[in-house]
Amino acid sequence: MTSQVKVSADDVAKAASFRRWDLSFPDKLERRFEADTAPRRAKALEAVVLRTVVVYNLFLAGDALLVPDSFNLSLIVHLMLVTPWLLAAATWLRRTPDARRRNLLVSSIPLAIVGGILWVFVSSRSPLASHYQYFVVLAVMYANSAMRPSLVYGVAVSGVIVVAHGLACLFHPDMPVAATITASFGLMVTIGVTLTANYYIERDIRRLYLLRLRDNIAAEGLQRTADDLARMSHVDALTGLANRRGVDSYVAALFAASQAVARPFAVLMIDVDHFKGFNDQYGHPAGDRCLALIGAAARAVLRDGADILGRYGGEEFVAILPDADLADGLRAAERMRQAVERLAVPHLRSQAGCVTLSVGVGTGSLGDAASLTAAIVAADVALYEAKAAGRNQVRPSPPSLLPSGQTARAA
Ligand code: GH3
Ligand code: MG
Ligand code: MG
Repeated sequence: MTSQVKVSADDVAKAASFRRWDLSFPDKLERRFEADTAPRRAKALEAVVLRTVVVYNLFLAGDALLVPDSFNLSLIVHLMLVTPWLLAAATWLRRTPDARRRNLLVSSIPLAIVGGILWVFVSSRSPLASHYQYFVVLAVMYANSAMRPSLVYGVAVSGVIVVAHGLACLFHPDMPVAATITASFGLMVTIGVTLTANYYIERDIRRLYLLRLRDNIAAEGLQRTADDLARMSHVDALTGLANRRGVDSYVAALFAASQAVARPFAVLMIDVDHFKGFNDQYGHPAGDRCLALIGAAARAVLRDGADILGRYGGEEFVAILPDADLADGLRAAERMRQAVERLAVPHLRSQAGCVTLSVGVGTGSLGDAASLTAAIVAADVALYEAKAAGRNQVRPSPPSLLPSGQTARAA
């Protein structure tokens, strides 16, 4: 159920407790109901009207039997007036997006058919003409039950037909008054029964619609919550970066999209230097703020959209750079190291005097899933070497751990 008119669970609850004599919903919900149901309704009506063309013209046999003196007129009415109108109405019904126009078209159909019947009836002097007028009852019954006009239009059209039928019978010279009275009465009872049935059908359709809409809105809400939770479970709350799970699923998607394509990638393992000392000196909350600053500074040196930086845990970060070789990875790592150094966050317990990073860089091939683990191990070894060499520096993975053909010369 898709629609432009947005409604809330509240709107639906209000509509459910809102009783209007013509069954219409409050304005917004009525527009939504119309948007959701009109296309199917219009298509169903088109099919009904096309069937009506067949049934209606079968009644020409009745005209031949009951009013043979007016059969020529009957042919003209059937084939040149009413049938073309029914065909045109069927086409317009399918195309019209508008409820009022649809109701007018639906109303025009019994009016056209009954108009034709009464015209032939008043023109005929056949002794059986008094039986012919009963076709009006059949036409109204058929129109009301097959097309289910909305209540207001159904009542209005039926009223016009009762009056027209009554006048035609009254002024027909061969129609006994008693027959006019019983025929009118029969017509009114038929109209009453069919419109009452329509009322209850429409009421049930609308009730079911509300129930379904309520379920759909609830399901959409649950889906949104599930989506939010899924998104949140991939994001690190402190830095706003991807968390470990986020990095893993990004990498899985990246590898799935690159199967059998030998594109290089670089992995950066990043660790804040002497961060325990920072916490001890400045407190854990200051440490948290510092991690958020580092995350933002490190993210800013990477390519938007292509590279991903995640918080791997604690004060460690990882970056994956698709389509980057070792030289690209080392350059990005150095930019990152400098960016954090430039933050100049004071750190009394570090020789550098400010917060710094050590970064190890490894590489692999996106077409080969096994190379991811190898690249991370290699970057970790490089990070360890950076730490051992005095921290605040970038190190490439040892040559023995590099995929064949890549060296650290570009550093
Ligand atoms: P090294 O230079 O060898 O990496 O030294 P280090 O002190 O950074 O390393 P160590 O692994 O000994 O300490 C990491 C510290 O990071 C310990 C912990 O208190 C701190 N840390 C980890 N996660 C958080 C966090 O979410 N917030 C804060 N404020 N500190 C954290
Ligand atoms: Mg660490
Ligand atoms: Mg550390």
